Amino acid sequence: MIRIAIDGPSGAGKSTVAKALAAKLGIIYVDTGALYRTIGYYVRSKEVDPKDAVAVEKLLPEIRIELKYENGTQSVLLNGEDLGDRIRTPEMSMYASAVSAIPAVRAFLLDTQRDIARKNSVIMDGRDIGTVILPDADVKIFLTASNECRAKRRCDELNAKGIKAKYDDVLFDMKMRDRADSTRKIAPAVAAPDAIPFDNSWMTPNECTDKLLKLIEKKTGAVAGKA
Ligand code: C5P
Repeated sequence: MIRIAIDGPSGAGKSTVAKALAAKLGIIYVDTGALYRTIGYYVRSKEVDPKDAVAVEKLLPEIRIELKYENGTQSVLLNGEDLGDRIRTPEMSMYASAVSAIPAVRAFLLDTQRDIARKNSVIMDGRDIGTVILPDADVKIFLTASNECRAKRRCDELNAKGIKAKYDDVLFDMKMRDRADSTRKIAPAVAAPDAIPFDNSWMTPNECTDKLLKLIEKKTGAVAGKA
């Protein structure tokens, strides 16, 4: 079993690269941001302020979250329903960020994340995977890219999904979210001391994947397709 942690700010390409690495290594890709987005979605549907820790905590017993994998693709089910791209909007990014600063929400999602890594070889992306969720991960990578590159990527990604987004708005929201995520009291989005920092600003997703694959193979002895 191998466990790989990929953390870093939004738009650093974590999900694209982690998905490609999981396919090459034949292991499961776990997108932990989707879990926070799903809680954010539920909180929004109940018209609760996502910063109101007491009100959000009261909603948690009503929420059942399951992770499903089919052909390497993850779906998150909220009380049995797959929300698909409804959790991918800029509004849901802000809701996810707000609820993720609430300790009860992080505690609520801890077992779901640890459980899947106990039973499977995984590559997991998020903000606190190397520091909190999988402190003993075999490889920890902290993926970054310049603000401009990240905002452009996020903008292209949203537009490709048919969600209209302007570069300046995306850049502004991204900086706000990164500041909130990296300065919050609980599980801030920072690199673990033993994480390898990796800036992929000027790389294509394929270049970044190839370089990280070599690094993972060197550190774990795992060979693509035989993990
Ligand atoms: O990765 P993604 O952009 O989907 O994450 C949405 C939000 O969820 C992040 O801005 C962050 O606030 C929160 N998150 C977190 N810890 C994780 C993954 C995501 O706090 N492991």
